[in-house]
Amino acid sequence: MTTRHNWTKEEILKIYNKPLMELLYEAATVHRENHDPNTVQVSTLISIKTGGCSEDCGYCPQAARYHTDIEGNDLMSVNQVKAQALRAKEAGSSRVCMGAAWRNVKDGEEFDSVLEMVRSINKLEMEVCCTLGMITENQAQRLAEAGLYAYNHNLDSSEEYYKEVISTRGFQDRLDTIENVRKTNVTVCSGGIIGMGERVEDRAGMLVALSTLNPQPESTPINALVPVEGTPLEEQKPVSIWEMVRMVATTRIVMPETQVRLSAGRMQMSREGQAMCFFAGANSIFAGDKLLTTPNPDVNEDMEMFQALGLHPQKAFEKKSQSESISAEDSKYQNLGEKPKWSRPGHKIERNIEAQKVAKIRFENVKKSD
Ligand code: SF4
Repeated sequence: MTTRHNWTKEEILKIYNKPLMELLYEAATVHRENHDPNTVQVSTLISIKTGGCSEDCGYCPQAARYHTDIEGNDLMSVNQVKAQALRAKEAGSSRVCMGAAWRNVKDGEEFDSVLEMVRSINKLEMEVCCTLGMITENQAQRLAEAGLYAYNHNLDSSEEYYKEVISTRGFQDRLDTIENVRKTNVTVCSGGIIGMGERVEDRAGMLVALSTLNPQPESTPINALVPVEGTPLEEQKPVSIWEMVRMVATTRIVMPETQVRLSAGRMQMSREGQAMCFFAGANSIFAGDKLLTTPNPDVNEDMEMFQALGLHPQKAFEKKSQSESISAEDSKYQNLGEKPKWSRPGHKIERNIEAQKVAKIRFENVKKSD
């Protein structure tokens, strides 16, 4: 099957709504044609800077305005990150994703530290991925030179539903960051979240946006919302395993070569449910007891599951060879003191504003009782 870049929403909906057995069979067939069905990549996510983000993503406990129980921390040191990456490698991970709760990357000391982190993880012969918010082309080039393997920037949902979740920047801003990454040799990781109250049409819409990118993202995380108390989406009902399986299978069919990542929400899934997702084409998981700030299965439990299913972890650089890390002194790209340009969408989301007000009251009450 060749990779198509002209999928329509109607076609994708038709696939998503097929009888489940037919959908699974088709997805598993596409999966086998493009990947080893018994290999699953194990990645580790390190939250290098937690909380205090100025954005208003309705699902995110790290947004400063929502007052959740998340303990924030400043940017970790290069040595701390390197030590965690080494532990992850010893536990079987071939990829490390570093997440910072930033709206966008700002040139300066902190970004220089992140570049050093990329260099040191690349030296461990692991694939390095970053998710740092919006970036400019020059920042993407500097990350590429440091040896970055992938940059993650999720579309989250369809363009239409995105406006119901985030008001502080537009959908196009996300596409612009992806385009900036595409101008380098860094691979693109972009996916989304289901269970935020969107319609099935929005799930299909998100897959249209992702699959019509040319080239398609090399990696697509499919997250199930983990509702966190204090966020505007705290009362969302969990998605069923059937919805997750359908979403994974549909993603596999429309994006045959992409690495499909089973991401947030695995804690709520049984092993049998996860096995069905692997059969439907998921070929990556995140290991470690936390996924940024939400709970995730323990690595030993995952290894037991791999054994039961006869799966084995993917080696690093199986899909694309390792890039060389260029040291800061030899870099041909300068610190330009840049900030990415973004739109100011001018729409407001009532429930996000409400959550912000509730957080303010809660915060004042806590202060009074201290
Ligand atoms: S998802 Fe990212 S950008 Fe949005 S609030 Fe959370 S940390 Fe900030």
